[in-house]
Amino acid sequence: MTGNVCTQCGYDHVVIHRKHNGQRLCSSCFRKSIEQKVLKTIKKQKLITKGDKVLVGLSGGKDSVALLKILNILKEKNIIELEAVTIDEGISGYREEGVRIAKDVAKELDIKHHIISFRDKYSFTIDKIMEAESKEEHPQHACTYCGVFRRQIFNQTARDIKATKLATGHNLDDETQSILMNYLEGNINNMVRIGYKTESRDERFTQKIKPLREIPEKEIGLYVLESGFEVHFDGCPYAHESFRMEIGDFLREATLKHPTIMYSTLNGFEKIKPAIKKDYMENHTGKPNKTCVKCGEPSSQDICKSCNFLEKIHKKLE
Ligand code: SF4
Ligand code: ZN
Repeated sequence: MTGNVCTQCGYDHVVIHRKHNGQRLCSSCFRKSIEQKVLKTIKKQKLITKGDKVLVGLSGGKDSVALLKILNILKEKNIIELEAVTIDEGISGYREEGVRIAKDVAKELDIKHHIISFRDKYSFTIDKIMEAESKEEHPQHACTYCGVFRRQIFNQTARDIKATKLATGHNLDDETQSILMNYLEGNINNMVRIGYKTESRDERFTQKIKPLREIPEKEIGLYVLESGFEVHFDGCPYAHESFRMEIGDFLREATLKHPTIMYSTLNGFEKIKPAIKKDYMENHTGKPNKTCVKCGEPSSQDICKSCNFLEKIHKKLE
């Protein structure tokens, strides 16, 4: 990438120049720096403790592949147990590739892998739902349905295998986008929930953790490539969450001139969060957790969102 030498070891093949701190690193020092940073985040934020059983949401994309590979370091040291789950929503031309890569990566790292499809579990696919939706006057967005079912599968799988942590591959770009988006939309309720880990009061939800939260997306892409892993970089064809994309473009553009901007957005947010949370939570206590009368899953209403959607979808598909 540049002709300069690695600022760590002096090797003359550099793969990255970090403008925010001036570091130039060779492949080996770069990979080590990512692993060390993630392990430091895990320790500092107390995301994992010895004996945890961690379930990774493995899509086959760069973030989750990097996450699995780094958490495997803790597995190999016998600090944690590690399993992975891949969800096949039934998005043709996109998900097949991710599932194949996820299988390969899990096999290579010798990690127990669960693949759960919408087709087997709910007897429909996202493609089928969207085909029916397209005939509606006001079609729902794919992610509205997909997100609810994906969350349900993650939670159920984590509970089934008795996982103590559910790890996802959210990176620095994802997190700063969420902070800015929710701030600009005035959605303080969502904003105060953004963090290194979830703090659910309902013990039926496995705690979710985000160990890659301080790593920029670009560096994660480079990490998996330099580690020799195959990943798929394609995005989901239904992912045109336009406001998030606009914010993402803005942040990437701003980073070119101001290399530290994503770090400062995240750090600034972490500093003010306790204050907003304290003030905000006192006035918004949230709803008590109930149990869905249909499926027995945790819910804030008598019938959970997933069961609500299932009924609607089955009617549409009849
Ligand atoms: Fe599902 Fe939306 Fe994610 Fe695509 S982008 S997998 S439709 S939640
Ligand atoms: Zn339900």
